[in-house]
Amino acid sequence: MKISCSAGRDGLYHSRQLLCACCNPPDPGAACSGIAGRFELHGMGHPDFTELHELEALIADGGHWLETQVACEVAVGERRFPVYALALGNPDPALPVVGFFGGFHGLERIGTAVVLAYLRTLVRRLPWDSILQRQLEAVRLVFMPIVNPGGMWRGTRANPNGVDLMRNAPVEAQEKPPFLLGGQRLSARLPWYRGPQGAAMEAENLAVCRLVEREFLSRDFGIAIDCHSGFGISDRIWFPYAHTATPIAHLPEVLALKEIYDQAHPNHRYVFEPQSRQYLAHGDLWDYLYQRASAAPERIFLPLTLEMGSWLWVKKNPRQLFSRHGMFNPQIEHRQQRVLRRHVAWLDFLARAACGYRLWLPDAATRERYRERALRHWYWRAKA
Ligand SMILES: [Zn+2]
Repeated sequence: MKISCSAGRDGLYHSRQLLCACCNPPDPGAACSGIAGRFELHGMGHPDFTELHELEALIADGGHWLETQVACEVAVGERRFPVYALALGNPDPALPVVGFFGGFHGLERIGTAVVLAYLRTLVRRLPWDSILQRQLEAVRLVFMPIVNPGGMWRGTRANPNGVDLMRNAPVEAQEKPPFLLGGQRLSARLPWYRGPQGAAMEAENLAVCRLVEREFLSRDFGIAIDCHSGFGISDRIWFPYAHTATPIAHLPEVLALKEIYDQAHPNHRYVFEPQSRQYLAHGDLWDYLYQRASAAPERIFLPLTLEMGSWLWVKKNPRQLFSRHGMFNPQIEHRQQRVLRRHVAWLDFLARAACGYRLWLPDAATRERYRERALRHWYWRAKA
């Protein structure tokens, strides 16, 4: 498959280049240098892989609005799948960034569906929504909707090497995590496999790290949202850490974000909490990237995880229990639509919150009071 850019000038942020590594190595020389245009997909792409097919259709529709890259490629037998990274909005490193990630776990297709639904609404609105166009002058948005296409194609949580990408980063849990669930190196045949001791991270995770390095570590403020589905009856928004019950340095900023959301959406159903309140784990990629980002004290990087409560769907349709995909994804169309509507609104909130971050972040005078309230809310009560 090849995607090419054709001309048309409109002075807005536009794509630089795109070539799919399936048939051509990415060529930075193919940049369309100031000329906005329309991407055309040549060849079939991946018509038998619903989510990837949909993403490629959006790339084609998004044309010059999107900067698209094949961040890496993953092989499953004879097949090769691209891991796409997309960006839109103002590339100025002085501006904030929001990253939308999905599909780390191949079975959790609803996470990818939520990210694609948000990307779709942006792509479809951009030609006429002048307010959105203005918003994108003030923020950078990046997308990696299918981090683990090999796992999604095979219908497994892990990647094709049997590695759980959310247990694969070089971070050790400081307290004892739950057996297996917290990450294990016994066997790739068991779930939650971390990968071999001492090995580099998996290619998909290295691609995420490169994207975060390029788009987040060059900026003072960024939020990432990574969409998953898991057991439970609540939709949860997790923040680091997963490897320790010790609070992160940016607890005041997380509380401030939660509070502006609570105020604007008083009927929301999300439970905000540090992931460590549910379970501890080795190898969490967001813990690793948060620690890397926080090496620069002036930088604020808030990686959040949306953990959709799959028991909500199973409870209403218990037959789902008998299918592997049914455990993690809504199986009835109207339920899927409701799930997408609800979470797309949350993703859109994050893009707006990032635009105006200077208006709601606690200042030096109030920060300690925020921290104290956050500790009382999430940590002291948890210990009691
Ligand atoms: Zn997951």
